This record gives sequence, C-alpha cells and structure tokens, in this order.
Amino acid sequence: MTARVIDGKAVAAELRARVAERVATLSFRPGLAVVLVGDDPASAVYVRSKDRAATEAGISTRTIRLPETTTESELLRVIGGLNADGNVDGILVQLPLPPAIRAQAVIEAIDPAKDVDGFHPLNTGHLADGMPTLVPCTPAGVMALLVAAGVPIQGARALVIGRSTIVGRPVAALLLAADATVTIAHSRTRDLAAECRRADIVIAAIGRAAFVSGDWIAPGAAVIDVGINRLDDGRLVGDVDYDACAERAGVITPVPGGVGPMTIACLMDNTLRAALARRGG
Ligand code: NDP
Repeated sequence: MTARVIDGKAVAAELRARVAERVATLSFRPGLAVVLVGDDPASAVYVRSKDRAATEAGISTRTIRLPETTTESELLRVIGGLNADGNVDGILVQLPLPPAIRAQAVIEAIDPAKDVDGFHPLNTGHLADGMPTLVPCTPAGVMALLVAAGVPIQGARALVIGRSTIVGRPVAALLLAADATVTIAHSRTRDLAAECRRADIVIAAIGRAAFVSGDWIAPGAAVIDVGINRLDDGRLVGDVDYDACAERAGVITPVPGGVGPMTIACLMDNTLRAALARRGG
C-alpha cells in the first residue's frame, strides 16, 4: 500500500479562510498580542509568520519586543497590561524565554480567557477533564488533519509517542475526548515497536529524525508526524522514516507541509474563538 498524503498546507489554508470569513462578519477586529523577549532568530521568524497570517485573517496584531535583559517582573507587568486591554483577545508569549524568567509563572499570569496558546493550567485542566476550552495550537492542528483526512477516531487504537505538555499530553487528551483508545509512549516505554504495530493512529512527537521505522506501522494506519528536525545537510525531516512508513500507512503527513502550517492556522482560530467568547459575535 502507498499512503495518501495529507496536505497540511491546503487544510491550513482552508481553516485560515474560514476564520477570515467569520472575522469579516464581526463588528470589531479581534486582537492578538505577541510578546517576544530577546532575539532568538527562530522565534523572530515564527512571530513574522504569525503577524502575516493574522493580517490576512483580518485580526489586528501587535508585537511587543522586549530586550533579552527583561526581568520576570517587568514581563509580568506587560502581561498585566495586555490582560486589562479590552482590544486584546489573545496573548501569546513566544517561548523559549531567557533563562532568568520562569516560563510557568508567565503562562500562569496570562488571563485564561486570552490564553490562545492553551498552556494556562485552567485551560490544560479543562482539556484533561474533556471540557471545551482553548486548546494548544499544534495538538488542535493534529486533530484537524485527522478529521480532514477522514480518519475514523472513535474506537480507534491511537498511540501518541511523546508526553510533552506542548504536544504529546494535549494530543492524547484530544484523542481521548474524541473516543479513541489512547496509549502514550515515551523514552521509558518498553517495546515501542510492538505498541506501534497495534495502533490504527500513530502520532509522533519525539524530536528525533526518522525515528519511527516503516516496519512498526500497521498496514493502513494513519501516521501524523509532528517532528521537525534539521539534518546536517540542512534538510528538514520529521520523526518518522517517511518513505518506509508511507509504503505501509493508509494516510501520512509530510514534513514540511504537514502539521507545521496547522499550528499558525489554529492560532488564528483560537484568537477568533477567544474574541467570540469575550465579546460575542
Ligand atoms: P520534547 O522534547 O518536549 O518531548 C519529546 C518526547 O519524546 C518526550 O516525552 C520524550 O520522552 C519522548 N522521547 C524521546 N526519546 C524517545 C524514545 N527513544 N522513545 C520514545 N519516546 C521518546 O519535544 P516536543 O513535544 O516539544 O516536540 C516534539 C517534536 O515536535 C519536535 O521535533 C519539535 O520540533 C516538534 N514540534 C513541532 C511543532 C509544529 O508546529 N509542527 C510544534 C511543537 C513541536 P520522555 O518524556 O520520557 O523524555
């Protein structure tokens, strides 16, 4: 079997267009504030793409750039100001933060109603409880790709490889909420290959290039590759051995062009959702 490739760019473009259409019906412009501390070049690239996507969707954006030397209390004051600003519906603090600032303290300072990254404990708690909430963007993107590809989730055996708070755990919670039978694997899992062979859906969020072998994949399984790894020759590859896995899978996401574009599209969707919840629509 050769897998059908899920075109993440196309699914992301559709979602962004849907957000733009809904925004156009509103009597106000939803607002997104992005806070960037320091001058990490990768973060600066992300922030620019977020800016562009927001502008295209009709969402007003504001990027607050702070120096590397910013203290935690200065950053908390900035967040306090954004929490109080009625025109700001979504607040995103670009991670990673400089080592002197505690990321968790910053995340917890964001008004949960404006937490478009979905990392505030109130939102992660709601997600863990299966309640509607602002969901982290990459996990939301993974679910949207499964749905767009027509993958049956209810009753399916899903394996999530990785248990980070940013990807693995929230993806597992979303799959559980969608009635999959979920297994979470991590670096201490005893026989990952055997866990994989049992799965109808494999989500790889490991951070190791081409780690998931083709012969681990059950024929016809859905494979979603969250990984982004840069090889020495400059190429970007995912966490699954793409060619070998594509020979056995039913559907598969490429890297780049799979989960990556969904993250920003889901950020736009979250900003719209936060705006509608705060201001009505
Ligand atoms: P983390 O490093 O936080 O987590 C990696 C997880 O993989 C951990 O739970 C770890 O287990 C597990 N793991 C590591 N080695 C193994 C192994 N040998 N066998 C099984 N499990 C293993 O990474 P993230 O979750 O933040 O990111 C994962 C990948 O997704 C990265 O490549 C990242 O670049 C990418 N990413 C892509 C995004 C996108 O927009 N497409 C957004 C965010 C991330 P343990 O907990 O035991 O250490």
